[in-house]
Amino acid sequence: MNTYDHNNVFAKIIKGDLPAKKVYEDTKILAFHDINPRANIHILVIPKNACIDFTDFLKNTNSIEIANFFQTVHIIINQLGIKNYNIQINNGAKAGQEIFHFHLHILSNDEF
Ligand code: AMP
Repeated sequence: MNTYDHNNVFAKIIKGDLPAKKVYEDTKILAFHDINPRANIHILVIPKNACIDFTDFLKNTNSIEIANFFQTVHIIINQLGIKNYNIQINNGAKAGQEIFHFHLHILSNDEF
């Protein structure tokens, strides 16, 4: 996969063409519940700019926005109130990436 598909599932969620259970949104970043959760809490965080995977995100996003992305991931974690969690990024089909818009998984089995 080396060209960005503007009709991928997450591009459609950003455009509002598909629904999502959003937990955070600003002009650059969106976070929402995974449709098929693998933990009590399973959130996906995505930048709104068109980037295929983590490599593409790092290559085509300025360092201030990259830092802002990861700081925002931590803000979302704090807002969720979770203390124990895993962060996962699948980069490339052979690593299990299914949707080719960069996304980061936040997974937590903390009880609420
Ligand atoms: P990955 O395997 O890293 O590409 O992860 C893709 C994730 O997107 C999977 O965990 C899916 O369950 C999730 N997913 C697929 N479609 C949707 C959707 N419409 N809304 C929310 N999550 C989705």
